[in-house]
Amino acid sequence: MDIRFLADNNVGKLARWLRIMGYDVVLFRQEDDGLMIRTALAEDRVILTKDAELVKRRIVSNGTLRVALVKECDPERQVQEVVRTLNLDYQFRPFSRCLECNQALIPRDKEQVRELVPVHVLETQTRYTQCPACHRVYWRGTHWQAMVRGLAALQAGHDNSSTG
Ligand SMILES: [Zn+2]
Repeated sequence: MDIRFLADNNVGKLARWLRIMGYDVVLFRQEDDGLMIRTALAEDRVILTKDAELVKRRIVSNGTLRVALVKECDPERQVQEVVRTLNLDYQFRPFSRCLECNQALIPRDKEQVRELVPVHVLETQTRYTQCPACHRVYWRGTHWQAMVRGLAALQAGHDNSSTG
């Protein structure tokens, strides 16, 4: 089964990048570590956190719970750190998930989104995807292009840093 994540409050931007890459990342927005741990165990998720205390727990050291401790502060370096630590793939399933709610996106044709996107987009774009939960529509416009470039830059930086 694909690796899935539960991201602590303190690594929200990292979580967004992982979603862009196509990973299943649920954000944990509360302060209750006990609840976060129970949720991760129940849903078989790896916790992403900057909280060094969490990895000292016995449930982590005995291997019951997987926690990836994030040491970098800059979100983009965090992505590179986690990709390296967990052997992830920048091109896993890019743009396959809703960036707002983590749902797997559904392919849509022009007719299905006609009422939902601006006219200038309809005139220039043919491929769309839609979130089944929030109904947000995605297309390959300038925002998408910026994310593609961002992802490529992260990957290029990664290759450079790992080869020295
Ligand atoms: Zn959504």
